[in-house]
Formats: sequence, C-alpha cells, structure tokens
Amino acid sequence: MSSSLLNLLLVGASRTVRLFSSQSRSLWTCNAQRMDEVQRAKDAAANQAATATIFSKIIDKSIPANIIMEDDKCIAFHDVSPQAPVHALVIPKKPIPRLSEATVDDTLLLGHLMNTARLVANELKLKEGFRIVINDGIHGSQSIYHLHIHVLGGRQMGWPPG
Ligand code: AMP
Repeated sequence: MSSSLLNLLLVGASRTVRLFSSQSRSLWTCNAQRMDEVQRAKDAAANQAATATIFSKIIDKSIPANIIMEDDKCIAFHDVSPQAPVHALVIPKKPIPRLSEATVDDTLLLGHLMNTARLVANELKLKEGFRIVINDGIHGSQSIYHLHIHVLGGRQMGWPPG
C-alpha cells in the first residue's frame, strides 16, 4: 500500500472517530439537558404551594424583567434563558398556576393572553412565523407554576417537540 493511500485512510479514520465523539457528546448534552428539565419540572410540581412565584415578583416589579408590553391584565417580557433567537413569555397578572387550573371564568383572559402573544410576535417582527407553547404540569415540563405562554421565533422549528 502506498504511503499516500495509507495517509488518506488514517485521516479518514481519525475524522470518523472525531465525528462520532462529537455526535455522542452533543447527544449526551441533549439528554442531560432533558433530564435536567424533567427533574426541574418534578421539583416545581412538588413545591407548587400557593406561594408567589418569580413571575409574581416580575408583576409587582420587585425583580426586573425585560418587558415588551404590559396592560392591566397581563405582561410580556423576554425569557431569561432563550431557546430561540426570540423567546418571550406572556403571563396573566392573575396568578393562575397552570392552564389546566384555569376555569370557564378565565375564558376572556385566556383569549386576551393569546391575542397579546400575537401582538408580541408582531412587535418582535416574527414575520416568517413563530411557535406558541404552554407547558402544563410534569409531563409538560412546566417549571414555574404561574401560567405563561412561550412565544418562540427567529429560526425554523422542528416537529415533534422534545
Ligand atoms: P416553563 O418551563 O414552561 O415553566 O417555563 C418557564 C420559563 O421561565 C423558562 O423558559 C425560563 O427560562 C423562564 N424564566 C425563569 N425565570 C425567569 C426570569 N426571571 N425572567 C424571565 N424568564 C424567566
């Protein structure tokens, strides 16, 4: 076997090894993040006493947030840990812990939140479209028990979600 052929084979083999190790590393990171998210959701569900969440503190302005819009019923702000180039949250000022705990009396409010999500997407120039997400409970990986709509955009979304 010529030395240049041997060289080519060696370079190819080392690239394959590097590719596999970087793929398994990102797979591992992805799985670790997912386990982390599930654990956070379980912890949040276990601790969801009727105490004020961090979102109540954003509403009463005792902690800061990067606010996009606000009215008497809701407030929209940028997510502190964005999962897309644009990631905003729309929350009601009324402390509804989760969508499944909303009642028929909240129908108008729920519509108002959805309409605010639309206005936020418009304000943030998500002309190519966007995704709306509401996580509910443990299986939904909800980590903060104050109802919120995620507005995600600025990149192509995949389906199915994780
Ligand atoms: P969920 O997992 O659906 O309950 O989403 C909670 C979201 O709240 C996550 O995307 C967090 O990054 C976000 N978040 C947590 N704390 C803050 C904060 N202080 N300001 C803005 N977003 C926050």
